Amino acid sequence: MVEIKYVPSICPYCGTGCGINFVVKDGKIIGVEPYKRHPVNEGKVCPKGNFGYQFINREDRLTTPLIKENGEFREASWDEALDLVANKLKEVSDEDPNKVGFYACARSPNENIYITQKLARVACGTQNVDHCARICHGPTVAGLATTFGSGAMTNGFDSIKEADYIFCIGSNNMEAHPLFGRKMIQAKQNGAKLVVLDPRFTPTAKIADEYVQFETGTDVALMNAMIKVIIDEGLQDDEFIANRTKGYEEMKETVQKYTLEMASEITGIKPEVIKKLAIDYASADKAAIVYSLGITEHSHGADNVMSTANLAMLTGNIGKQGTGVNPLRGQNNVQGACDMGALPSDYVGYRKVKDPETTAWFNDYYSGYGYEVNLPTTPGLTLVEMMNAAHAGDLKVLYIHGEDPVLSDADVQHTKEALENLEMLVVQECFLTDTAQCADVVLPAAGWGEQEGTFTSGERRVQCLHKAQEPPEGAWLDWKIMEEIAVRMGVPRELFHYESAQDIFEEIRECAPIMAGMNRERLDTPEALHWPCPSEDDPCQPLMHKEKFAHPDGLGVFQALEHKGPVETVDDEYPLLLTTTRILFHYHAAMTRRCETLNNEVKTGFIEINSKDAAERGIINGEVVRAFSRRGEIAIPARVTDDIREGIVNIPMHFVECAANVLTNSDSFDPKSKMVELKACAIQVEKF
Ligand code: SF4
Repeated sequence: MVEIKYVPSICPYCGTGCGINFVVKDGKIIGVEPYKRHPVNEGKVCPKGNFGYQFINREDRLTTPLIKENGEFREASWDEALDLVANKLKEVSDEDPNKVGFYACARSPNENIYITQKLARVACGTQNVDHCARICHGPTVAGLATTFGSGAMTNGFDSIKEADYIFCIGSNNMEAHPLFGRKMIQAKQNGAKLVVLDPRFTPTAKIADEYVQFETGTDVALMNAMIKVIIDEGLQDDEFIANRTKGYEEMKETVQKYTLEMASEITGIKPEVIKKLAIDYASADKAAIVYSLGITEHSHGADNVMSTANLAMLTGNIGKQGTGVNPLRGQNNVQGACDMGALPSDYVGYRKVKDPETTAWFNDYYSGYGYEVNLPTTPGLTLVEMMNAAHAGDLKVLYIHGEDPVLSDADVQHTKEALENLEMLVVQECFLTDTAQCADVVLPAAGWGEQEGTFTSGERRVQCLHKAQEPPEGAWLDWKIMEEIAVRMGVPRELFHYESAQDIFEEIRECAPIMAGMNRERLDTPEALHWPCPSEDDPCQPLMHKEKFAHPDGLGVFQALEHKGPVETVDDEYPLLLTTTRILFHYHAAMTRRCETLNNEVKTGFIEINSKDAAERGIINGEVVRAFSRRGEIAIPARVTDDIREGIVNIPMHFVECAANVLTNSDSFDPKSKMVELKACAIQVEKF
C-alpha cells in the first residue's frame, strides 16, 4: 500500500520563515503544501516555497567524499577524508590558529551552525568564523547594535499590518520575501500608505501608493535631509528623545548642512518630494521602516542602517506595534547564523569575544577531560578578510559549509585566486557547486528535509524542522561530520558528542541567555518562540525596545553620519553603475537552479538597461551584450526597460554563466561592518 504522510517544516528560501508540509510518499519527498495553520504565511507560499523541494532527490547529489589529486577528484572513504581534513586542521591550527578559517552555512539549521563555530573555536582555537550575513545584513547587525543595542529586526512581521505609513527603502520584497510583501498589501488594505524608494521600478514599487526613484548609494544624504526637515518643522518627538536616547545634539548639528537642495543634487529626488517624505513619515501615528539589501550592500551600509535608526528614534517610531526598523533577512537562517555565534566577534547569543569574562566563561565551558580551550579575546577575521588573507597567502585552510562564494562573493576572479592559494579547501555540500569544484576535499552532507533542527526567521522566530526522508546513502548529517573531525583532532568525545540535534539545542540554551526559555514543548508548535526568551515563563513575544533599548544603560544612541556614496564612481570608460539583485524564482543557485519548475521560469541571467542607455549603444531587447568592469567581462542578454533609472544597470546574482560578481568590486569595504559594495560598481555595456 502506498503510504503518504505530511511532515511539517520551514521553507529554506528567505528569512520570512513560511511553514510548509512536505508531502512524503514511500519515504521520499514528492511535494510541498503550505502549512494551513502557520501564523506567518497563513496557508500560502510563493513559487520558491512551492517548487523549491525539487532539488532534493536529484541524481547529482553528492554521496561519496571526494579528494582532489593532480587536479582531478577521486572518490574516497569517509575515514580517509575525515582523517585528511582533521590532520591538516590540527597541523595548521597547532602552528597558528589564525591560519584556519570557517564559513558557516546560513541555510543550515541552527544546530549545524553552532557546531561549525564550536569546531572552529574548540578544536582549532580560532575566532576566524563567519557566514554570508557579512555580505548581506552585516551592516544591520553592526548598525542596529550600535544604535539600539541589538542588531535584529525590532518588530514581528505582523506588526506591519498595524502601520499607518510604511517607508520601504531598498527592498524589493514582493520578489525576495513575497509572503512579507503580502503583509504589506494587507497593511494597505487596512489603510496604510506605502512609499517605496528604489533606483528600480520593482514589483514592490508597483504596489506602492508613492514611488520615489533615486540614485544608488545616496541613502544617508536622503535621510539626513529628512531629519533636518523634521526638526525644522518641529515634528520630532521631544519626550522620546529626552527620555530614551542620547547623541541627539551631535546628530542634529551634522544634518544642518543637508539642505533640500543639497540632498536633491546628491539623490536625484526633487526637494519638495524629500520634504513631503519627511513630513509624512513624521506625521504618521505609526510609521514603519522596511529595508533589505538596497540599504546594506554598500561600502557605507552600516551608516545607511543607522540613518534608518536615527529616523525612527527622532520620531518615537520604535517599541510599538506598526512602527520600528524592519530589515528583511535574505537567507532563511541568516538570523540564526548570527545568533549561533558564527561571527568572529560574538559567541552564541551575541556574547562578546572581546569581553575577557565572557571568553573565560566559554574557555571553561568548553574545557574538560584533560582538554583545555584557550580562546583569544581578539575577534577573528570576517568572511571578506578571510578571503583576502587567503589571497595574500596568510590563510592556509578554509572550511566552507554549504556556501558558494565563487558565485556569491564580489569579484569572482579574486575569489578563485584566493581559494587556489589555500593549502587545503574543504567544502561540505549536497552538490558539486562552483565552490566545491575548487575544493581539495568535498564532504557530502544531508540536505533540507533530511534532518531535524531549528531555523530562526528574520523576526527572531525560532521554528522546528522535521526530517521527512533519509539522506541519500553516503551523505552524513552536517553536525555528525564536524563532530567526527573534532574528535579526530583530539577533542575528547565527551566534550563533542550528541545523540540528536535536540541535544545540541539544549547546549545552545545553556550558552545563550536570549534562548534559555526555549524548551521543546513550547518551541515545537506552529507559533514557536521569538527571542529574547530568557525564561520558560517569559512570553517571548516579537516586539523589542518597548520600555528601553538593549544597551546596558537602556538608551538608544543617535549617530552623526555623513553621505559618502559608492566607492567606485562612473567615468568615461565605465559610465554605468551596476547594481545586483534577486528575482522571484531563484535564490541559492545550487538549489533553485536544480528545481525544474523554477529554472524553467527564468533559465538564465539578464542585464536590465534603461531604453535611452540601450539606444545610445544600439542595443535591442534580448540581444546578448558585452558587460565589463575593471575586474572582468561577461556575455549576457539585455533586458531593455524604463523600469530602471538612466545610468544604472542591474544583473540578478544567481546565474554562474553570466555572473554579476565577475564585475563587482571586492576592494570597497565598509569599515564598520566589513561589507563589500555589491550594490554599486562602475561598468560599461557594449554590443558584441
Ligand atoms: Fe519561502 Fe520566503 Fe516564499 Fe515564504 S516568502 S515561501 S519563506 S521563499
